Amino acid sequence: MTETPVHRESLPTLLSGAAATSASHPELDNWRSLPISQQPTWRNDPGYDAAIAELSMVPPLVFAGEVDVLRSRLAEAAQGRAFLLQGGDCAETFEAATADKISARVRTLLQMAVVLTYGASVPVIKMGRMAGQFAKPRSSNDETRNGVTLPAYRGDMVNGFDFTPESRRHDPARMVRAYHTSASTLNLIRAFTQGGFADLRLVHHWNKGFTSNPSHSRYESLAREIDRAVRFMDACGADFEALKRVEFFASHEALLLDYERALTRVDSRTGQPYDTSGHFLWIGERTRDLDSAHVDFLSRVRNPIGVKLGPTTSAEDALALIDRLDPNREPGRLTFITRMGARNIREKLPSLVEKVTASGAQVLWVTDPMHGNTVTSPNGYKTRNFDDVMDEVRGFFEVHDSLGTFPGGLHVEMTGDDVAECLGGADPVDQEAFVEGYESVCDPRLNHMQSLEMAFLVAGALSR
Ligand code: PEP
Ligand code: MN
Repeated sequence: MTETPVHRESLPTLLSGAAATSASHPELDNWRSLPISQQPTWRNDPGYDAAIAELSMVPPLVFAGEVDVLRSRLAEAAQGRAFLLQGGDCAETFEAATADKISARVRTLLQMAVVLTYGASVPVIKMGRMAGQFAKPRSSNDETRNGVTLPAYRGDMVNGFDFTPESRRHDPARMVRAYHTSASTLNLIRAFTQGGFADLRLVHHWNKGFTSNPSHSRYESLAREIDRAVRFMDACGADFEALKRVEFFASHEALLLDYERALTRVDSRTGQPYDTSGHFLWIGERTRDLDSAHVDFLSRVRNPIGVKLGPTTSAEDALALIDRLDPNREPGRLTFITRMGARNIREKLPSLVEKVTASGAQVLWVTDPMHGNTVTSPNGYKTRNFDDVMDEVRGFFEVHDSLGTFPGGLHVEMTGDDVAECLGGADPVDQEAFVEGYESVCDPRLNHMQSLEMAFLVAGALSR
């Protein structure tokens, strides 16, 4: 028997280790000398070096080739030929990384995507705020309860939610656990979306549970139209085999640069650095200063990058971010995720979009209708009104409509579970329900039904 020769050099290997990448790409460490905010205080912790060393050697969570595919999909969206649906928890937790919760979230996103695909008549790019969304920026370093002050919770990658000194300690070993939890989450997502469990007909069938609820009767006609379209495809002999597999991408806020840097690898095909912690990474509203460590680091990896833009963003800020993050004006490279608040969007967004468009840059515009609409309920919970969220989405579409630009996507905090965290919806959640049903350790998420309702409302607006 002849042995098949293995051409090692031709395998798409990835160089491992911070040392190797630092030698070939010293610019990846430039951020270390720049102003940086929202980082844990753990540099002198005895476990810090071991955690970084381990993360520098582990296999990548995502592959460079997949990241390139995503960039090309986002380029389509930036040019009006696809729509991005990005959703998931505000903060994932280790404890909630269970098969049930992960698959419920993926199922809900797929259900939303089917409805949106029909409404938008373009492919929907499906992306989770999942498999890495473990670090949170906070408005205060500390939290005080009943006269006791402890470090604020910064996400499971940094410390625990329990209000004790031990749990709130910044522990670098948590980065390694975040990596492994991301790996198992991604493994389940890949199995679920590649293994035939996401068949279009099945996803469509799940949606019937939503419209059979009498509170959702107003969505019945759209649901019937989708049903007819699916049956039409079936009758025409559409290749449902091909529709059994869906592309699903992972994203998170690239907040902890220790973690992001340690997971950055050089792609052997191109010699370019990729942050292999997720396909898509975004810079938050609080860390997007032009001369900050975050903007510098993310300008140097090949992943598609998002930036959150709040109501105080000037057009000059946006143009300068484009120059730093997308100097080659590459469609798909840069996504602006606006989070203006329902009260501001119609006033603030037009000049940003106008000036960016006039500059010739081709960014993808996505709305995050959650973060500008956070309020405290009378009984003391951090919440959002479904109507405010939808009003911001409508404002986003109106602005792009009036400017002739493309409203390219939706970024939402949502879950597949029946939680009570956001107020309202057709089957309304009220504040009394928070006492039993509020599970989020950070911001309030749309529950399963509210997420589907949003998809139906957006699809209705898109197909008009
Ligand atoms: C978030 O997406 O959870 C978040 C903190 O957003 P922003 O940076 O826009 O406040
Ligand atoms: Mn949030």
